[in-house]
Amino acid sequence: MSELRVRFAPSPTGMLHVGGARTALFNWLHARNRRGTFVLRIEDTDRARSTEESIQAIYEGMRWLGLDWDEGPDVGGPYGPYLQSERRPEQIEAAQRLLEAARAYRCYCTPEDLERRRAARLEGGESQVGYDGTCRKEIGKPARDEPFAIRLLAPDEGEIVWEDLCRGEISFQAETLEDFVIVRSDGSPTYNFAAVVDDAAMKITDVLRGDDHISNTPRQILAYRALELPAPRFGHVPMILGPDGTRLSKRHGATSVTAYREQGILPDALFNFLALLGWAYDDSRELFTREELIEVFTLEKLGKTPSTFNQEKLEWMNGVYMAALPIEEKVAIARAHLESKDLLRHLPDEDAVRRLVEALGERFKMPHDVIDYADFLFTDRIVPDEEGRQRAAQFPEGIALLPELASRLESLERFEGEQAEEALRGLAKEKGRKAGDLIHPSRIALTGKKHGLSIFDVMLLLGRERTIRRLRAFASEAAGD
Ligand code: GLU
Repeated sequence: MSELRVRFAPSPTGMLHVGGARTALFNWLHARNRRGTFVLRIEDTDRARSTEESIQAIYEGMRWLGLDWDEGPDVGGPYGPYLQSERRPEQIEAAQRLLEAARAYRCYCTPEDLERRRAARLEGGESQVGYDGTCRKEIGKPARDEPFAIRLLAPDEGEIVWEDLCRGEISFQAETLEDFVIVRSDGSPTYNFAAVVDDAAMKITDVLRGDDHISNTPRQILAYRALELPAPRFGHVPMILGPDGTRLSKRHGATSVTAYREQGILPDALFNFLALLGWAYDDSRELFTREELIEVFTLEKLGKTPSTFNQEKLEWMNGVYMAALPIEEKVAIARAHLESKDLLRHLPDEDAVRRLVEALGERFKMPHDVIDYADFLFTDRIVPDEEGRQRAAQFPEGIALLPELASRLESLERFEGEQAEEALRGLAKEKGRKAGDLIHPSRIALTGKKHGLSIFDVMLLLGRERTIRRLRAFASEAAGD
């Protein structure tokens, strides 16, 4: 069996989109699972839209996700350049061969000619208004001194069929395919032709790509036939949908790998998440390391229906990967996030970020959680929300004890570890009350909310001084002072 060779062939016209990243990832997993070769080819033939910045963003996104390429820009390989624009001589040469073999012809029709004839046919009631074959009479003839495009001579009847790696048999009627342009009048090869010449030159065995390319595939198969080259296997993976059921796009918010990275998604989490967008191991298992995915990934388990991008699930998964990080890394993530929002200055001391991360525990899924769960740290004035107010009102006796609690906390030798907790429980016991009678109003006094982190963690995070001040202020406000 010949070696498996796959490629990821992005057009560098923007950021690396999650859809593209998923295509790259499936190809990469397929190659790694089968000990094949993963090729990166930058399809930069659209000179007007391709940018160097986008090429760099693609490299960066792939490197960040750990999708290393065996052949391609930077690493090279045996099959010439891996930037499509640099492969043009080979593509033009292939078109030349087709002209000589009478499998392609020069077309001198101008865009205006084409448009006029198309309009006339539409008016005459025709529905198939592809190229009408006017220049087929040029087949085998030498070039005239006029601008021309090159068209592939497509069959008028029959079927183009392939066994799709993802969807099973797909067929197109030849009559729906026109003699399509393979080289434009400005001398540039079209995508459908350049991709075929390049895939053949690079000995690609499996073309795995998004299903938006399905309609290109019969044309590409015709090009392989004309060039007398074996076509690769094709597989078209279903698109990714946004939560509203339409194709995932910028309208749905962040869609580039860079944007998720900036949100604080970890590369291993995004990798795991993307692998499950259109592929499943079984009905239940969701967590896989990279190595496990390489081990179990097979094309048979690719889904046939579109998958929905679920941000909540991504954040949940990020939490799983976050929990597995060493504490130092989590602290660094939390610190960087607080710093970026200029909130570090609200924390009493250097060690406070670590204590915050420890207090969050498994709640720390995304960098913004350090703010969402600990907003009370970053303000000087607590205004209880409605729910908090109602909760506090249930504990008038507890509220009355808050000044006493504050004094006891004030006189503690040290304000760390279990000491605050012991002081609170001791006071409750002495006064014949349940600890909860003090805990609930304390929470409202310190955070303004009914739910949240452990109250003793809250106290330590705030530090003694702010804790005492808030307890006293709340009690005196409740007493109507
Ligand atoms: N350059 C094409 C794109 O970015 C990919 C084509 C292919 O995979 O054949 O959509």
